[in-house]
Amino acid sequence: MERIVYLNGAYIPETEAKISIFDRGFLFADAVYEVTAVLDGQLIDNEGHLARLEHSAKELGIKLPMTSEALTAIQESLIEKNNLAEGSIYVQLSRGAESDRDFDYSEEIEPTLVLFTQTRKIVNTPKKKTGIKVISYEDIRWRRRDIKTSGLLPACLAKHAAHAAGADDVWLIEDGFVTEGGSSNAYIITQEGKLVTRPLSQDILSGITRDSLMKLSRDTGIEIEERPFSIEEAYAAKEAFISSATTFVWPVVEIDGKPIADGKPGRFTLKLRDIYINTAQKNL
Ligand code: PMP
Repeated sequence: MERIVYLNGAYIPETEAKISIFDRGFLFADAVYEVTAVLDGQLIDNEGHLARLEHSAKELGIKLPMTSEALTAIQESLIEKNNLAEGSIYVQLSRGAESDRDFDYSEEIEPTLVLFTQTRKIVNTPKKKTGIKVISYEDIRWRRRDIKTSGLLPACLAKHAAHAAGADDVWLIEDGFVTEGGSSNAYIITQEGKLVTRPLSQDILSGITRDSLMKLSRDTGIEIEERPFSIEEAYAAKEAFISSATTFVWPVVEIDGKPIADGKPGRFTLKLRDIYINTAQKNL
């Protein structure tokens, strides 16, 4: 069935949604975006996602055409119009289109706002049982990874390479240390039982799921170390996992062909996944 999508003020069937070939999102990846999970027809951690959209847009000087409340109302309308029970909602804001291709842009340019829904299983996905295999891959992205732009070519190439190698995803490496996953934050549990993840900076995206997981992990009493870790430290970890809005928490059971511990999803990882989902459902 055709989705109803949102484009610059109109709710229209997806095949009728058209944007200019001069849109800077298309020509220069001059656009920011967000993905919010939907469970039982409700938005999960959406305030965090919209706050991050504001951060991304502000850092690039892209005008946000409306308040977070107005954006949320559009997200909710799309959930209803498309009968979305479980999946995600994508929001993209590009700087807009002018009458020709030009690197520079005028301050008066009007942004292009697009939203659409995506149906997918998040809670009962087989990946939570099997875990995923990742390969390490050089992080060739630009230096402002705290800004969520649609310039995702490095991630597309990395994920394609992972699939070609028989893996599910990548862990990106810079100067010998893991920055993050292909489209997720990366964590290990050390043999001593500490949760280790890279601290927030311009090197990584400040994951909204990460933010919730750090609070929930603290409540479990686990010791947390926010510091960079190497891929060798990850090979020797007791557990490894990723987080994002579209996976919540997925165990990582193999890195570069080496099983993590016994090669099965870790206990803390699965517990944290359950806690996250239960908390999200309770707050609906
Ligand atoms: N890092 C990167 C590079 C990502 O693309 C994502 C997915 N948005 C994340 C981390 C996780 O962020 P979130 O939990 O907000 O989805």
